[in-house]
Amino acid sequence: MDEKQIIKDRVIKILGWYDAHRRILPWRSEPGVVPNPYHVWLSEIMLQQTTVATVKSYFEYFLTRWPKIENLAKASLDDVLHAWQGLGYYARARNLHKCAQVISSDYDCRFPETESALLALPGIGPYTASAIMAIAFNKKSTPMDGNIERVITRLHAVMEPLPKSKKYLYQLAIKMTPDLRAGDYAQALMDIGATICTPRSPNCGICPITRNCVANLKGLEEELPKREKKPVKPVRRAIVFWVTRSSGKVLLRRRPEKGLLGGMIEIPSSSWEVKKKSHKELIEQAPFDINWKIIPGRVRHTFTHFHLDLEIFLGTYEGKSLKGDIWSMPHQFSDHALPTVMKKVIAHLQAVSG
Ligand code: SF4
Repeated sequence: MDEKQIIKDRVIKILGWYDAHRRILPWRSEPGVVPNPYHVWLSEIMLQQTTVATVKSYFEYFLTRWPKIENLAKASLDDVLHAWQGLGYYARARNLHKCAQVISSDYDCRFPETESALLALPGIGPYTASAIMAIAFNKKSTPMDGNIERVITRLHAVMEPLPKSKKYLYQLAIKMTPDLRAGDYAQALMDIGATICTPRSPNCGICPITRNCVANLKGLEEELPKREKKPVKPVRRAIVFWVTRSSGKVLLRRRPEKGLLGGMIEIPSSSWEVKKKSHKELIEQAPFDINWKIIPGRVRHTFTHFHLDLEIFLGTYEGKSLKGDIWSMPHQFSDHALPTVMKKVIAHLQAVSG
């Protein structure tokens, strides 16, 4: 068989497998039903860095609360961030909200149907634009997620490690993308990667493309894809200032809109420093000039690019509030969009105080 025939044969097998074994997912339309671009977009944004199992309940909740994109556009950012709690990477939630507003105001609530227009929208990168083009509009496009990268790597036994090999994998994937049924094909590869060609112990025995898979022929499926060693994450340090009033209320504040955890509510903290600073230096950033008591232990939270070690200082304050201060009873913390790192701080305090 020449290369063209091999590709054709593969595509037929992949689509045939998809027709019989596709995953049933809440955001996926039934066969023969035109997909809803809002559902496709929402699920793709949620699925970035998050598992399908986690996303299911969030997706359903968002649709119950904001059934259409215009509803989401009209929601308050706070409500969206609050509903997003637990999915992490809050910049995605802020961009989701902004994107809904742009589509409502500039596109009459309809997603544009070109990759370039999609790419110009907040929070939509090359992968998401391509996934929307293929899945929502059934237009020929080649989205590359982690599952697809793994399948393509093994199919061609690409020995170059990820992420260096990404560009080459993309070229190989483009060659394989069919003109018709682009959405089904992309989702089929995602499903094969998620359910058969899994990171460990791929189930080659039931794979529809075993015959054409070089990694399987050479017995390399367990070894591929190779990965470059990740650099060691730096550790940043900070102090969290837990300030209470005699009423039992605790001081919270909103983080700046831009930057990590932008717009989220936090227990005030000092800057997150890579360079070790003394307590004295960090206390200068405390919200009030009061006496502080150190709580034993540290809280560690890991972000994508660094670890954050937090110490907790306790203080009481009865004076005037400053602009932006939010005083909340601990049992009402759930009313605020507190990120996971702050929930860990609360859990640590509860554990220490018994
Ligand atoms: S044959 Fe095995 S290694 Fe190759 S694509 Fe299928 S599951 Fe992956």
